[in-house]
Amino acid sequence: MNRPGVYEVEMVKNTFRDLIYDPAFGGGVPGDRPVKAFIPGGVSAPWFGPDQLDLPLGQDEVGGQGSMLRSGSVVVLDDTTCLVRAAWRITKFFSRESCGQCTPCREGSGWIERAMYRLEHGGGRVEDLELLLDLCDNIAPGLTWPPQQTTICVLGPSIPSSVHAAIEMFKGEFLAHVDKQGCPFD
Ligand code: SF4
Repeated sequence: MNRPGVYEVEMVKNTFRDLIYDPAFGGGVPGDRPVKAFIPGGVSAPWFGPDQLDLPLGQDEVGGQGSMLRSGSVVVLDDTTCLVRAAWRITKFFSRESCGQCTPCREGSGWIERAMYRLEHGGGRVEDLELLLDLCDNIAPGLTWPPQQTTICVLGPSIPSSVHAAIEMFKGEFLAHVDKQGCPFD
């Protein structure tokens, strides 16, 4: 956003569009670029697309659409953003944060991070998409929202959100990475 920061909004009355575009809040996207996707409540949250910009900023409203507001940390991704890279970087964070007590979190986060790395940096395969979804499903069975928890803490089921959303919303971008054997973005 043009004015990244911490803002107090009126819950349910204000929308994500208000938060991102209102001059009193985020003040719009740099360069007036279109929003490609946004993360409504921290990197554990499933992503939303631009058609959900008018959703009210409320826990129930966001929860009803299959994500969460929770931390209130909204991440805006414009059309210049590589979504594969964004999801890879989020997974890398979770992989580093895993304390290692639970097998799905300890092993799954590393496997997902490595598969995402090779998609972004060359060596990605079409079958990696199914592999990634399978790995996500092993951490949070069914890939439902709210996620099922197979681990001691909630970091485990937080791992699949970004990768699952990115594949569901931008499968073509993943396939472009496979075709190019690396990132097609500058
Ligand atoms: S889910 Fe929590 S407790 Fe289990 S390995 Fe991951 S960080 Fe550790």
